[in-house]
Amino acid sequence: MSQEVRVRFAPSPTGFVHIGSLRTALFNYLFARHHGGKNILRIEDTDQTRKVEGAVENLISSLGRLGITFDEGPETGGNHGPYYQSERLNIYREYCEQLLASGHAYYAFETQDELDEMRRLQQLEGKQTMYDRRGRDLSDDEVNEKLASDAPRVIRLKVPLGEEVRFNDLVKGNIKIDTDIVDDQILLKSDGFPTYHLANVVDDHLMNITHIIRGEEWITSVPKHILIYKALGWDVPLMAHVPLILNPDKSKLSKRQGDVAVEDYLQKGYLKEALVNFIALLGWNPGEGEEKEFFSMEELTKEFTLDKVQTSGAVFNIDKLNWMNNAYIKNYDIDKLADISMPFFKGTGIDMNDKDRVKKILSAIRVYLNKLNEIPEHVELFAATEVTIKEETLLEHLTSETSKKAFASLSEKIEALDFLTADNYKLAISEVQSETGIKGKALFKPVRIALTGSENGPELPAIAEILGKDKVIEFLKRWH
Ligand code: GLU
Repeated sequence: MSQEVRVRFAPSPTGFVHIGSLRTALFNYLFARHHGGKNILRIEDTDQTRKVEGAVENLISSLGRLGITFDEGPETGGNHGPYYQSERLNIYREYCEQLLASGHAYYAFETQDELDEMRRLQQLEGKQTMYDRRGRDLSDDEVNEKLASDAPRVIRLKVPLGEEVRFNDLVKGNIKIDTDIVDDQILLKSDGFPTYHLANVVDDHLMNITHIIRGEEWITSVPKHILIYKALGWDVPLMAHVPLILNPDKSKLSKRQGDVAVEDYLQKGYLKEALVNFIALLGWNPGEGEEKEFFSMEELTKEFTLDKVQTSGAVFNIDKLNWMNNAYIKNYDIDKLADISMPFFKGTGIDMNDKDRVKKILSAIRVYLNKLNEIPEHVELFAATEVTIKEETLLEHLTSETSKKAFASLSEKIEALDFLTADNYKLAISEVQSETGIKGKALFKPVRIALTGSENGPELPAIAEILGKDKVIEFLKRWH
């Protein structure tokens, strides 16, 4: 591309980052990086009633934690600011004036009651509900008279009738729509604030946005936007509407069926790499088949192109996210894993200052973890001062004569060691085998139950090392 690529993420801050917003932010980031372009953050905060304190800071920090950064925006600054729409109100008014002067917009003065009545009658007649364009018929005198009164006033787009709006969406393909069914959209509200449509178009133009990448739910606004661009004599940026994210039952992803806030996932101990990888694959895959599942941010940046974005909805499958997170946890650098796991050891009784021990525990249990908040249930056995036998049926494995003999022999071997490690535990076990003739399941099963209270779990030598010599002997002694 000869022109510098400039894309934007334009959220209306609501206090948390929705999974769908994260996907939009990620696709924009990847697209900008892929093309060596600029990623811009613009805050669409003209709806003051929805304002949430601290929402923007939270948004920037959540995205930043995941590696999604911006080249221009409220914190970074840049040459196209301000990046808060609430600080650009004069700009919108100026362009609205221009549209009025050129005859592409007009004043309308209906009260809310009148609009409701209009809607009610249209519904009764089975018609499309939209503004019936009655304000177009007012004479200049009538308009001036109303303006001088205290009647509520808005400025509406004068949609050219009998035409066709066409555009080629980079994901959805060619779309055309008859202007007769396009509403005379409000551009400036009675409180003097712009609507989303006006502010969005004006800003995308003034911020030199080359590609608009956003969720499919905005595609119905495109005809209105194109008419505004044309009325202002501006080029229309390229557009890519990415598919909706769906629940497994194919309904639109909603809070009712699970978490939708990125913060919730981070808090539960999904690794940022796994989240980014998983989210990137919601509606995008570079392969013909889908063999490749694992992508680092660098690989995503290299591979991301819009022609590989799928057209139909992308199902959010939590089982797949768990599987992927588990794969990342299993392969993560153990030192880093210990650092990010620390908060999840709180209250488990494991000394968090003993990083070596934390690392050993994590190495033993990480294959079982789908997310880090499962750590407490898996470390219980390492912090226990006594073993609770999980099921009554397990007791017989502890009380048989063979088991007693094995426990006595193993205790003796361990007693003789200065220090218990996984390796010398294995040696001790093989000595017990040759000395007592007890081997295989008849040996491992009772020892595991005596040390952990359960039939399965992490590798025994690792458990023995983490428990340490004294506890292992104490737990075995109970049974012989
Ligand atoms: N403010 C809109 C949102 O909340 C922006 C949509 C767009 O990207 O045009 O998602």
